[in-house]
Parts: sequence; structure tokens; C-alpha cells
Amino acid sequence: MNPYTIFTEIINGQAPSSKVYEDDDVCAFMDIRPVTPGHVLVVPKIPAESLADLDPALGGKLFQVGQRIAAALRASEVAAHGVNFFLADGVMAGQEVFHVHLHVIPRTPGDGFGLRARPTSPKRADLDYLAGSIRGALDR
Ligand code: 5GP
Repeated sequence: MNPYTIFTEIINGQAPSSKVYEDDDVCAFMDIRPVTPGHVLVVPKIPAESLADLDPALGGKLFQVGQRIAAALRASEVAAHGVNFFLADGVMAGQEVFHVHLHVIPRTPGDGFGLRARPTSPKRADLDYLAGSIRGALDR
């Protein structure tokens, strides 16, 4: 797949954006279709289509910048009362732009944002079984 998406154009200044932060590795800009006012995307400058392709050090940097932006969303006129991080990895997870990015979503009372889910209550044996399977796959 072509590693260049609209985010590369934004990073290179070839497409318009409202930038919030930039350094050698990472760029952060306002989401063009915010789910709440102040919704920011944090993006590595080197394109990686998915988490599996992302240099873990760069992943750490995304999180660090996300932390700083979260604090700024609370301290700025956005006046966030809380913040959600969201990252969609893969079509099934809702990824639409195939250049890894961290959503930093400010939360205020009554903002209408939420995740739909139906939590279950599995037996401990089932949790242990899957934990073992995941542990076994960690170093593969
Ligand atoms: P995903 O579903 O891949 O996690 O999220 C992609 C995000 O990129 C969406 O929230 C969408 O609004 C945002 N987006 C798509 N195209 C553009 C664009 O051209 N500029 C900006 N700033 N955001 C974009």
C-alpha cells in the first residue's frame, strides 16, 4: 500500500492544517471532523501504516506528545474536564487513514462522545486461558 496519505501532505505543508505541535519526529494538528471541540491528532512524521509497522520508540513519542496535548486541552480555552486517547489499528478497528495516529479527544459534560460496548463477565479460567495465549504470542 502507498505509505503516503493526506497526513504526509499535511506534515509536508502541501495540504492545509491547523497545527498544534511539531518536532523532528511528530506532528499534531486539529482533526478536520472533530468528535468534540479541540480534537487533536498526533502523527509520526515517518509514515507507518499500522502499529506493527511503527518504531516502538516513535510510538512512545506519540504517547508523550499526547500527554502534553492532553494537559494543554485542560489548561486552554478548550477547558477539557477529561481526555480520551483513541487509536484505530486496522479497518476492523475503524482506521480510515492508514498512517498511524493517536486521537486526543477532550471531554466536557454532555459532549455526546462515547464508546459503545457490551462488557461480559467471563470466568477466571477463561481469562487465564486467553492471558496464557497472549503471553505466548508476546515474543513471537
Ligand atoms: P481514523 O478513523 O483513521 O482513526 O481517523 C482518521 C481521522 O482523520 C478522522 O478523525 C478524520 O476526521 C481525520 N482526517 C481525515 N482527513 C483529514 C484531513 O485532511 N485533515 C485533518 N486535519 N484530519 C483529517
